[in-house]
Amino acid sequence: MADPPGVGLFNFPVSHSAQLIARLLEFHQALHGWYQIHQRKLPWRDAPSLYKTVVSEFMLQQTQVATALPYFTRWQRELPDFATLATASEAKVMKLWEGLGYYSRARNLHKLAQAIADRPVPPRSPADWQELPGIGPYTAAAITSISFAEPAACVDGNVVRILARLAGEERLFRDGSEAAKHFTPLADALIIGSDPGTHNQAMMELGATVCFRQKPLCLVCPVAAFCAARKKGEPEKLPRLKPKQIEKRSITRVWCEHRGQLLLKRGHATAKRLAGLHELPDAADLGLQELEKKLLLAVKRRAITRFQITESIYAVKPTATLAKIISATSALEWVPLRSLESITLSGPHKRWISEILSREK
Ligand code: SF4
Repeated sequence: MADPPGVGLFNFPVSHSAQLIARLLEFHQALHGWYQIHQRKLPWRDAPSLYKTVVSEFMLQQTQVATALPYFTRWQRELPDFATLATASEAKVMKLWEGLGYYSRARNLHKLAQAIADRPVPPRSPADWQELPGIGPYTAAAITSISFAEPAACVDGNVVRILARLAGEERLFRDGSEAAKHFTPLADALIIGSDPGTHNQAMMELGATVCFRQKPLCLVCPVAAFCAARKKGEPEKLPRLKPKQIEKRSITRVWCEHRGQLLLKRGHATAKRLAGLHELPDAADLGLQELEKKLLLAVKRRAITRFQITESIYAVKPTATLAKIISATSALEWVPLRSLESITLSGPHKRWISEILSREK
């Protein structure tokens, strides 16, 4: 990132490079000193290993730490290393991931373990890691900096937020990726010393526990003295990103129960998001229209990326016409209610189904 003449790290007036380096060292001491004392105790930081780092980084893509914690513990117990994961069945992998969402992560992690198990040694450079399934620039930087001390900066939403505020950057970015690209040179420049993994983790920890999107805790921030946005006031206004275009969608779902079985649809093996996962079928799968006159069991709302989705679940009785459609559609399956625990349902559908069944008791 090019600085205007005479202005150095985070808009600080500097006259020569020695001043800039001294300031960079001060920033490091403040951040790393804070991290040593205040870092959260997390299971992947306890006796760290390449495998724990990889699994935690996959789980933490799109997921909060608190949500990932019980999944990580269970995963470690059942699949403690690359070799065990590589030979596990897909059904077991998906079941352990059930409820965590974004299931392509589980499938990619499974494939990655198989690729690693086939090699005499795991790759070391960020570029080589990016050749593996499910690994983008951020995950490659996180894994290789933590496990192999590669000087690669992790630039995710948390880090973009911190850097935009430290630098007081007021430009409007099209989206998060444009902002990440803009701040990558600055994030790279902040990596000094022999422990880039600790530096990346300290930055991520600061974003997750102090420099919140709303109401950042500037009063206790270890790098407040370096922060241009804090000095100006209203740091929560940065970074500036164009608002996302929200698209609304409505889906009509069918609840069809018959002789202790529930009708479910299984995602096709090649489906990007729901391969192998079960969900309540939608009305179109069964050629049904005008369900308004049927019994409405629940209305659920959720957001997936830029879509705001409203799903209405109607109770439908199995008719002879429906039975014909069901037997002609391989993706539709009657699943005994007592076997629901042994199949893998998508997270929201698992919750909705157990909520509706608990009302029946
Ligand atoms: S001073 Fe406030 S806005 Fe600046 S980095 Fe720290 S928490 Fe974030």
